[in-house]
Amino acid sequence: MSSLFPKVFVDFDGTITTHDVGNEFFRKFGNEAESLKAVAEWKSDGLSGRDLILREAGFVKTTQNEALEFAKSFTIDSFFSAFVDYCRQNEVELTILSDGLDFYISEILSANHLSEIPFYSNIARFDTDTIKIEFPYESTCPKCANCKGHQILTRTGIDDLIVYVGNGFSDRCAVDYADIIFAKDDLLKYCEANNITFFPFEDFSEVLSKFRKTFESKKFRKRHRAELKRREAYLSE
Ligand SMILES: [Mg+2]
Repeated sequence: MSSLFPKVFVDFDGTITTHDVGNEFFRKFGNEAESLKAVAEWKSDGLSGRDLILREAGFVKTTQNEALEFAKSFTIDSFFSAFVDYCRQNEVELTILSDGLDFYISEILSANHLSEIPFYSNIARFDTDTIKIEFPYESTCPKCANCKGHQILTRTGIDDLIVYVGNGFSDRCAVDYADIIFAKDDLLKYCEANNITFFPFEDFSEVLSKFRKTFESKKFRKRHRAELKRREAYLSE
């Protein structure tokens, strides 16, 4: 039996929301062709996460009101709130980590009565009809603007058991340090290609069901490779 207690980290775009809000924002209000090109470059590690966002943001023409209206049109996974409730009832800390932008995350969380969930993301400052991006969580990671691996290391200790739920390329650094991983889409392919153990999921009903079973049977186990990576990182700080 294990007495390990989990800390849950969840990606936002395409994991909590049913679509990638950040990508769609840049395509609609920026330059779609340039965005597609930049994302492809980033996926092949030819562009850093920070430069990707700066390049896409440079084309944006919209007001804050218009951007918030756009954010309101997105829906979230219909089982996410049930997962949040379960975590809350069992005093499991749940944190959102995003390499996207703050304005649509807070707007969508608030529209779904989930504003109490803490989130860490990049920040967009609106200036009439353009935006400026701020990066409050810079790290040495060349792939990410807000590195989720760095975030996890900052927000956990050596004894925590880390659960991660995500769907994309910006989750790559997070899964290196996670013990229990729920993955879909690009993240699922990444885990498969790198022999990282994960649970596939389509929506949060599957995450909730598997998480509840593990939580109630107290069968949490650390993933050896993640534990070694974390130890290495904690010790090098
Ligand atoms: Mg995502």
